[in-house]
Amino acid sequence: MAITPLMPVYPRSPVRPVRGEGVYLYGEGGEKYLDFASGIAVNLLGHGHPHLTKAIQEQAATLIHVSNLYGSPQGEAYAQRLVDLTFADTVFFTNSGAEAVEGAIKTARRYHHHHGNPHKHTLITFKNAFHGRTLGTISATDQEKLRDGFAPLLPGFKVVAFDDLDAARAAVDEHTAGFLLEPVQGEGGIRPASPEFIRGLRETCDEKDLMLVFDEVQCGVARTGKLYAYEHYGVEPDILATAKGIGGGFPMGAFMATEKAAVGMVVGTHGSTYGGNPLAMAAGQAVLDVVANEEFLAHVSRMGERLRGALEQMIPNHDHLFESARGIGLMLGVKMKTDSRAFVTYLREHGLLTVAAGDNVMRVLPPLVIEEAHVTEFVERLSDAARRYEAPRAG
Ligand code: PLP
Repeated sequence: MAITPLMPVYPRSPVRPVRGEGVYLYGEGGEKYLDFASGIAVNLLGHGHPHLTKAIQEQAATLIHVSNLYGSPQGEAYAQRLVDLTFADTVFFTNSGAEAVEGAIKTARRYHHHHGNPHKHTLITFKNAFHGRTLGTISATDQEKLRDGFAPLLPGFKVVAFDDLDAARAAVDEHTAGFLLEPVQGEGGIRPASPEFIRGLRETCDEKDLMLVFDEVQCGVARTGKLYAYEHYGVEPDILATAKGIGGGFPMGAFMATEKAAVGMVVGTHGSTYGGNPLAMAAGQAVLDVVANEEFLAHVSRMGERLRGALEQMIPNHDHLFESARGIGLMLGVKMKTDSRAFVTYLREHGLLTVAAGDNVMRVLPPLVIEEAHVTEFVERLSDAARRYEAPRAG
């Protein structure tokens, strides 16, 4: 048989980590990597963080899983904490980002159904968006590479240009349920939406009784220097999907909503076997213990400024390779002039982990616990690698 036991849907790199410590990963043969990818914006606390590890170990020894058929003191406590920290009044726990987005989409549709408007089922979504790999979430994008071969897709999505308020407004019709967007696009190439765009969408939703749905799976949980990226814009969504960093590496997510938006999500409308189990709740609590305070968020902003500043200083030295740096907090991207995927692969071979993204961008997503020394190490090694990467071209 030629097929590999691990279904071959990923072009897996030769990096084969078996152990992690802080911001470093170690491969099978002891190779050391500086991890500025964080499992694609997941390991907020780096690897082997003592508080997260202890919380998971203790909870695993106490109670891992029961069922959502029973009362959940662990889920109630953690949901209350998220409600206290955000715009939301209520939370549903999922196991991944795509499931969180699916739940957010269902909540938006159900709102209009509840109000006697089941024809208001279509979400306006945006070019270059990424919302996950389920049938619903690939239907919400226009990216052929995600959709090819999976037809028929779900109806109920209309894709328009990102950050174009006029296009978004013009797309609204009698079937519109609301807008679904990443306030900072991740896979699409680290593109923060403009404040005018986000505020304009909020106004349109208020005027027309539509749902503003944010997918903060990548940009949420302190990554941008705020607990959630919407706080940068001074507007609140009606519904928000979160995952990735929320468990610090433990697979979990959530969708959250205001009381108004969640009006249709009554008993029997949604469910999940694992969602919100005690082990996940312990991981989520441990992450919030570390990140949900002003001091930590200020650290993220400060490190983000340092890293961005250092990248901007370095870029002119390799200006045939790099164009510019962009992003917010520690959700950064370097727009490249050559193929970002090839360069990210080259960096991996030289012990530096970053992630490629759309628009020829190299994503720089370090653990949020990095210190200045890691910023310096990263940029020096990146610059060295860029110099060597140039060499064969020059020769
Ligand atoms: N939404 C966004 C913005 C993402 O970046 C991702 C994953 O990259 C997802 C949703 C899907 O999350 P998951 O892979 O956990 O299903």
